Amino acid sequence: MNIDDATTAVSTLAAGPDWRWRNRFHALGAEFYTELSPQPLPTPHWVAHSESCAELLGLPSDWQANQSLNALAVFSGNALWPGMRPLASVYSGHQFGVWAGQLGDGRALSLGEIDTPSGPQELQLKGAGLTPYSRMGDGRAVLRSSIREFLCSEAMHGLGIPTTRALCVTGSPLPVLRETLETAAVVTRVAPSFIRFGHFEHFAQRRDTAALQRLTDFVIEHHYPECRDSPHPAVALLNAVALRTAELMAQWQAVGFCHGVMNTDNMSILGLTIDYGPFGFLDGHDPDHICNHTDRQGRYAYASQPNIGFWNLHALAQGLMPLIGRDHTDAVLEVLEAYKQHYANAMRRRLRSKCGFATAQKEDAGLIDSLMAQMAHERTDHTILFRRLSTFSTAPDAENLHVMGLFDDLAFRARWSAAYAERLRSERSNDLQRAAAMNRVNPGVVLRNHLAESAIRQAQAGDFSEVQRLLKVLQKPFDERHDTSADADFPPDWAQHIEVSCSS
Ligand code: AMP
Ligand code: MG
Repeated sequence: MNIDDATTAVSTLAAGPDWRWRNRFHALGAEFYTELSPQPLPTPHWVAHSESCAELLGLPSDWQANQSLNALAVFSGNALWPGMRPLASVYSGHQFGVWAGQLGDGRALSLGEIDTPSGPQELQLKGAGLTPYSRMGDGRAVLRSSIREFLCSEAMHGLGIPTTRALCVTGSPLPVLRETLETAAVVTRVAPSFIRFGHFEHFAQRRDTAALQRLTDFVIEHHYPECRDSPHPAVALLNAVALRTAELMAQWQAVGFCHGVMNTDNMSILGLTIDYGPFGFLDGHDPDHICNHTDRQGRYAYASQPNIGFWNLHALAQGLMPLIGRDHTDAVLEVLEAYKQHYANAMRRRLRSKCGFATAQKEDAGLIDSLMAQMAHERTDHTILFRRLSTFSTAPDAENLHVMGLFDDLAFRARWSAAYAERLRSERSNDLQRAAAMNRVNPGVVLRNHLAESAIRQAQAGDFSEVQRLLKVLQKPFDERHDTSADADFPPDWAQHIEVSCSS
C-alpha cells in the first residue's frame, strides 16, 4: 500500500482521554522524522493490556470499554485521538559490529507525547505499517513477537529494570509472512523517549553538526538537565549515558537476561531496555548462551553483553565527537574507561545482595566467583539457584539440600556451604531477615521462553487468557506465592528446542 493512501484512511476521533499533549520531538526539525499516519489493520481485536501501564498514563478505568474513546481503533492504528501527531523518526546504526547506514522507525510510529504525574511519556505503535524507513520490511509485527515484547517489557518493569513499557497488544487476522504465515499485531509502547545511540550516529555520519547539536541539546534539556552547566555538556552527557548503561548491564547480568540484538540502534539514550526481539532469560547458567538463533558468531552472547555495552558507547562517543572536538579526546577516553569500573562495581554490588551479604568483605569475590564458575560448569538453573539460596541455613548441622542439592559435585557442595555459612556468620547474618532481603532481589519467576511460548500458542488459537495470567505473575516476580507454582519451576524438556530468531 502506498503511504499516502494509508494517511487518508485514518480518521481523527472526536475526543480522546483527558491528556495534555507535548509532542516536543517535532521541535527538532524536519531532518529528524517523517509525519505520517498508521496503516489501518482490518477487524482489530484486543489481545492483552497492562493496567499498571494504563495507570501510569492516567487512562480512565474504562479506557478499553468506553465507546466514545474507541481505544481499540487507536491502538490498532485505525484512528487517532485529537492531539496526536504521528511520526516515524530516522536513525542509523551499527548492526553486528558493522556500519549499517540509515535505518529508522521502519514499523514503529510515535503517536505523540503526553504529560503524566511521572513526567512526559511518549506513546508508540510498533507494527503500524510502512514508513519511509521500512527498507525491505513490511512495516508489520506478528502476534508472536508482539506478545513477547509486551510481556517482557512489563516483566522487566516488575523486576525493577529500566525498560520501555507496554500498554497493550491488539491483533488482526491480516496475514503476515515470516518463516511461516502468521497474523499481524500492534504493541503500544511507552517511554519518556525512544531516542537511540543511532540517532546521534546518524547526524554525525551525515556531518550535519547543527542537527547533532540540536539533538544533544534536546536530550540534555529534557532528560539530563544536570549536564547543562558542565563546561563540556556533550562529554557530561556521554558520561551520564555510560553510567546508566553500566547499571543496566549489571541488572541484565544479575537476572540472566540476554537481549539478543545489541546493535547501536537498539541502545536507548536513557539506558532503558528497548526493542525486544529474540531475547531470552538463562535457564541453566551458561556464560556463552546465545539467545538469538541468527547470531551464529555469538557476538551478543550472555557474558559478552557488558563489553558490547562498552563497544556501543564507543560508537556513541564517535557520534558526539564533532561536538566535543579532538582537543578533548582524553576526557572522552576517561569516560569510556570509567564505564568498566562502574559496571564492575555495580555487578559486584548486585551479586553481593543476591548472595545476601549486608556488608562488603574481601573474601566475597572469591566466594561469588566460585559459585558462578560451578553454576557454569554444571549449568545450574540461574533463577532457581539464587531464589533457593535464600533458604540457606547457617545452623551448624544444616544440610541445605534444597539449594546445595542443585549441584552434583559433592566436594563443591561441602566446601562452598562451609565457606558461605562462615561468611554469613562473620556479619551475624540473621537467616530470616536475610531470606526476606534476598527474595526482594532474586526473582522467583522470569519470562522463560517456554512460558512465553505456551501463552503464544494459546493466543494463536484465539485464547488470550494465558497472556493476561502470565502478565499478572510477571508483574510481581518476587512474590513468594509463585514459588510453588509451575511458573517458577525448571523448564520442561521441550524448552530446549525453542529457537528464537531476529524475524519478528
Ligand atoms: P531491529 O534490530 O529488529 O530493532 O530492527 C532493525 C531495523 O529494521 C529498524 O530500522 C527496524 O525499524 C527495521 N525493521 C525490522 N522489522 C521490520 C519490518 N517488519 N518492517 C519494516 N522495518 C522493519
Ligand atoms: Mg530496533
